[in-house]
Amino acid sequence: MTANLLEFDLEGLAVFCERLGEKRFRATQLFRWIHQKGASEFDQMSDLAKSLREKLKVHAHVQALPVLSEHVSADGTIKWLFNVGDGNAVETVFIPEDDRGTLCISSQAGCAVGCRFCSTGHQGFSRNLTTAEILGQLWFAEHFLRRHLKVDSRVISNVVMMGMGEPLQNYSALLPALKAMLDDHGYGLSRRRVTVSTSGVVPMMDRLAADCPVALAVSLHAPTDALRDNLVPLNRKYPLDELLRTCTRYLAHAPRDFITFEYCMLDGVNDQPEHAEALIALVRQHGRDGLRCKFNLIPFNPFPASGLLRSPQARVLAFAKQLQDAGLVTTVRKTRGDDIDAACGQLAGDVKDRTQVQTRIAQQRTIMLRPVDEISR
Ligand code: SF4
Repeated sequence: MTANLLEFDLEGLAVFCERLGEKRFRATQLFRWIHQKGASEFDQMSDLAKSLREKLKVHAHVQALPVLSEHVSADGTIKWLFNVGDGNAVETVFIPEDDRGTLCISSQAGCAVGCRFCSTGHQGFSRNLTTAEILGQLWFAEHFLRRHLKVDSRVISNVVMMGMGEPLQNYSALLPALKAMLDDHGYGLSRRRVTVSTSGVVPMMDRLAADCPVALAVSLHAPTDALRDNLVPLNRKYPLDELLRTCTRYLAHAPRDFITFEYCMLDGVNDQPEHAEALIALVRQHGRDGLRCKFNLIPFNPFPASGLLRSPQARVLAFAKQLQDAGLVTTVRKTRGDDIDAACGQLAGDVKDRTQVQTRIAQQRTIMLRPVDEISR
C-alpha cells in the first residue's frame, strides 16, 4: 500500500523522505506543492528531481476522501458530505463572511460523547478519522474554492474543529493535522485562527496546551454539574470545577487569548435568568478577575430524537444581555445554511454505531429535565 501524503505534517513528511533515501529538505518542496498549490500528481511538481518523482509514484499518493454530495446554501454556505466507507459519511462546512472564510471540519465518524442536544451524538460512534482524512477536508475545500472562485490566494482564513466528533478523543490524528494548518509551508494559519472545540476532555486539553495551543472552544451548555451531567455526559468524568481549572491552565500557554464557551440555548432547560446568574458566578470563581473568556450563545437546531426545543429569540437576547451586563463578552451565533441543514450531523445520517452510544442516549432520554409539552406551553 502506498502512503497518503496528506497523512503527514512537515516533520512526518521529512521522515518519509528520509525513508525513501532523500534529503529532509525535499519534504518542504513537496509539502508546498501539496498544500499551497493543491497538487496531487507528482508530475506537476516540476522543481522536484525526476528520480524523486518516480519514487513518489511508486510509494505515495495524495488523496482526500471521496465526495458524496455538495449542497450550496442561498447565503453562500457550502456543505460537503464525504464518504468514509462502511456506509458512513462525515460533513465539512464552508462559511463565507465579509472578512473571513471559515471551514468547519469533522474529526470522527459519529461521536461517542453523546451530548443530548447534538444530532451527531445521537447517531453513535463508528471510528476515528485519520490525519489524511481530517487534513484532506481542508486540502480539498481550499483548492476546490480557489478553482471555483478563480483565485490564487488563500480562501479559507479560519478553521474550526467543530464538525462531527470530539477532536480531543482523536488526538494522535488531530495533532499533525493542526501542525500542517499552522505551518508556513502549509496553510500558514495563525494559532488564533484555528479553533479546537471540546466537550471537556481534560487530560487532552493539557496536552494540546503543551503541544499546539491553538484557540480553544469549550462546549459548556450548563452552569451546574447536575444539569451538565445530563446534557454533556462527559461531565460525570470531568466536572465543571476541574474543567474550568484546566481552562485557566490552558490560558497560561496562550497569553492574551481567551476561551470561547459554547452555550446551546435550550428552551426551559438552561436559558433562565438563574442559569445566567450561575454562569457569571462560575466564571468569577476562577481567577481574581474571572477566567478570560467569551460566551457564544447558539440557537438550538431542533431534531425530533432530542426531545428539546429552541429557546425563543427574546429569551436568548435577554440571556446575552444579562451576561454582558456582568462584563462578559457575549455573542449570539448567527444561523447559517439553514436551507441545507448545515448544523453538525444533520446530513450525514446514522453512522454504524459501534459503541452503543445510541442505546445509552435512549436510556438517558427517559430522564426528562422537563416534559416537552410543559416546555412548549
Ligand atoms: S456536541 Fe460534539 S462532543 Fe457532543 S456529541 Fe456532538 S460532536 Fe460529540
